[in-house]
Amino acid sequence: KHFLARIERLNPTLNALITVTAEQALAAAQRADELLASGEAGALAGVPLIHKDIFCTDGVLTTCGSRMLANFVAPYDATIVEKLSQSGVVMLGKANMDEFAMGSSNETSYYGPVKNPWDLKKVPGGSSGGSAAAVAARLAPVATATDTGGSIRQPAALTGLTGLKPTYGRVSRYGMIAFASSLDQAGTLTYTAKDAALVLRDMAGFDPRDSTSVDTPVPDYVAALDQPLKGLKIGLLKEFFEGGLEESTAKLIREALQVYERLGAQLIEVSLPNLPLSVPTYYVVAPAECSSNLSRFDGVRFGYRCENPKDLVDLYKRSRGEGFGAEVKRRIMTGTYVLSAGYYDAYYLRAQKVRRLITDDFARAFQQVDVLMGPTSPTPAFDIGAKVDDPITMYLNDIYTIGANLAGLPALSIPCGSVGGLPVGLQIIGPHFAEAKLLNVAHGYQ
Ligand code: GLN
Repeated sequence: KHFLARIERLNPTLNALITVTAEQALAAAQRADELLASGEAGALAGVPLIHKDIFCTDGVLTTCGSRMLANFVAPYDATIVEKLSQSGVVMLGKANMDEFAMGSSNETSYYGPVKNPWDLKKVPGGSSGGSAAAVAARLAPVATATDTGGSIRQPAALTGLTGLKPTYGRVSRYGMIAFASSLDQAGTLTYTAKDAALVLRDMAGFDPRDSTSVDTPVPDYVAALDQPLKGLKIGLLKEFFEGGLEESTAKLIREALQVYERLGAQLIEVSLPNLPLSVPTYYVVAPAECSSNLSRFDGVRFGYRCENPKDLVDLYKRSRGEGFGAEVKRRIMTGTYVLSAGYYDAYYLRAQKVRRLITDDFARAFQQVDVLMGPTSPTPAFDIGAKVDDPITMYLNDIYTIGANLAGLPALSIPCGSVGGLPVGLQIIGPHFAEAKLLNVAHGYQ
């Protein structure tokens, strides 16, 4: 009731939630109470949570931030929705997001921009901007989110939260609306690493309904939180201290690194020479996959359908033309272009090769160090409207986050101070399936 009251009071200003499921939440809370009383409750019994509107929720609107799905009520739950509700969470509603998770500022949503609770003129980051604003404004202690190129970590940094993107394959993608299937991964936005550990423990795991889900046991992330950090080898990514990093942000990152030194960690400079190619590589691979994934929205099977189509081709053209926003169309066109005969070798195949080089760079670095650290975002939150007309500048916001997605690595962002009242995030990247280590390292700082 406390959180529902905050949502009622603050959501009209923040625009963080697209749907509020108050009645279902009260019923679920009641059920959690009963299970707690009878001693049968799961670990997260009664924990209020908001799901990003990219996860299918049985009987509840799932829009993916798009006009295309403005009337779409999913007939089933995504695996993570099912798993978390089995653990007892109480869903309060569905979070606003960039349309089909394409964006870095939550300004591409059909449902309008989300405001950053720290300064209402600023963006909360994207694409999980609604999830981030909701948790930062204490509308819920936890929100789910997804990260294809930074969409958990960058909003976490811009709103002062802990944002965890697990290893590709750690969390099921079943029932999570696809953007770029080889990059998409679900994770959490929470206040602390400890909260993230609690939620990930019940969210992760093998799922036969996701062919890329990895069948490896889920460790007890909570039990590993208090390992001492003495002797930890931290790699400082040379390339992360370049690329438009603002000095005030760099200073806070250096201060956070000093905290780790005091905890007994050793700082080692490492270089990933191919990392500066990650943004152009991503903006070939991700649009290519999105152009294929989004071909299912044809006005026939589900979602938006135009009025009075003349014939089938008119139905396709107008349903897609009217249902998708500008950024989604830009991505579909780019993706179709890079996959087309004559350009495939020059763009798509080449991007896949560079992706391999970047992955190999990371593998080499992890032979030397336990984790890599650097900034999450080159700047704190920027003004709403400042970058909307300049897609390239917007894309460059992901310069530090995209590498982990291309290599499938787990990464998280934790708050490490603020500049002019706006939070700054420290990014920590680990080897595949090192979530327990990342959470331990983040918890040590917090
Ligand atoms: N900002 C990036 C993009 O627009 C990443 C989005 C994401 O991680 N979903 O594609």
